[in-house]
Amino acid sequence: MKVIGAIGGMSWVSSAEYYKLMNEMVEKELGGLHSARILMYSIEFGEFSEEEREASEGDWKPLRKTMLEAAGRLERGGADFIIICSNTMHSSVEDIEAHVKIPVLHIADATGEKIREHGLSTIGLLGTEYTMEEEFYKKRIKDKFGIKVIVPDENDREYINLVIFDELCAEIISDDSRERFIEIIRRLREQGAEGIILGCTEIPLLVKQEDVDVPLFDTLTIHAEAAVRYALED
Ligand code: GLU
Repeated sequence: MKVIGAIGGMSWVSSAEYYKLMNEMVEKELGGLHSARILMYSIEFGEFSEEEREASEGDWKPLRKTMLEAAGRLERGGADFIIICSNTMHSSVEDIEAHVKIPVLHIADATGEKIREHGLSTIGLLGTEYTMEEEFYKKRIKDKFGIKVIVPDENDREYINLVIFDELCAEIISDDSRERFIEIIRRLREQGAEGIILGCTEIPLLVKQEDVDVPLFDTLTIHAEAAVRYALED
């Protein structure tokens, strides 16, 4: 079984879920007391969110440095491949790939494959403002899988971002926020979304499949599954 190198801590709340799920998935696959081989480097989220703020103002250096250091630590520690436990930080994938020799298992590839299995051609994307607005995520899904990605309007994007950082990353789960997310999903559906990517690893903590009648693509679970599948391959 390969050693999964996980860059976590963005936030630790969702990384703890990755850790739990990957172990449960290996146990289910192999039975008995089997569990996953995981090396997780958990970034300090207080410092990291400060670096994210600097990046949003145009200075990406501190954030990139943290990500490259994390990847280097995992490689030196003996990880066979890397997963980044955050959709947003997949904007650093190319830098990481250039920095280490072990492969990175991309969250958008695992998600795109899952959407393709469902035969959907237009998908709504919820995530941080950065993930919804920049091209690194949407373009990958479009170019690699031929799936059109639509996002909420500016007000809704701002609201979603606020809930992610002020509530979900602090383990605050609010019924009011859930209602508003369901409303946003309904609007995306009216605009043609046949499914919704929960493209931030904290959103599955708030919105569950039973809350809506459109297929949800929980990137945390999909990514964890892909990591376990790859770890168990010969
Ligand atoms: N975990 C989030 C994601 O999947 C982002 C939170 C953060 O950027 O710190 O995009």
